[in-house]
Amino acid sequence: MEIQTQSRFIQGECRICRTPLRLRVDNEYAELGHDPMNLLKVVVCNRCADNHTRERRISDAIFNVCFTLCRKTTQEQRVTLRCALETLTRKYAEVIALIQDNDTIIWDNEFPQTLFEHPAECPRILRKYRRDCARIPRTQRFPVEAAVSVGPPEPAASLPYKDA
Ligand SMILES: [Zn+2]
Repeated sequence: MEIQTQSRFIQGECRICRTPLRLRVDNEYAELGHDPMNLLKVVVCNRCADNHTRERRISDAIFNVCFTLCRKTTQEQRVTLRCALETLTRKYAEVIALIQDNDTIIWDNEFPQTLFEHPAECPRILRKYRRDCARIPRTQRFPVEAAVSVGPPEPAASLPYKDA
């Protein structure tokens, strides 16, 4: 029986959380003239890829609510939109805590209320929220996977926005 190697592995780390990764590269990739080492600059672990997809989905939803609030709305619509902002900002707080490896979820009523009162400033408000959360002491923020990992690094790896 003949065994043909169609791919090889290169060692790297997640661009975002620095978790060690083993990246499988098809031989075809190098044959096409690409340098597989370039992949290491963009590779992220599955966990970070999922979290960032989720963050984008939730922030898009928040943008939509704020966009609607910028237009003429009825009192009834405003009540519904305020409720939506409350739910969405809680979800946003959860995903930001995951992304920043923060064990504390930072949320209070001021977050949706500020968006509700200043919907046109939505991008700035979200940016400020992320910045404020990132200032939390880092004691518990080191990724658990990297801290306890022994033996060979996780084989799971994915490239952003590209199906395997
Ligand atoms: Zn990662």
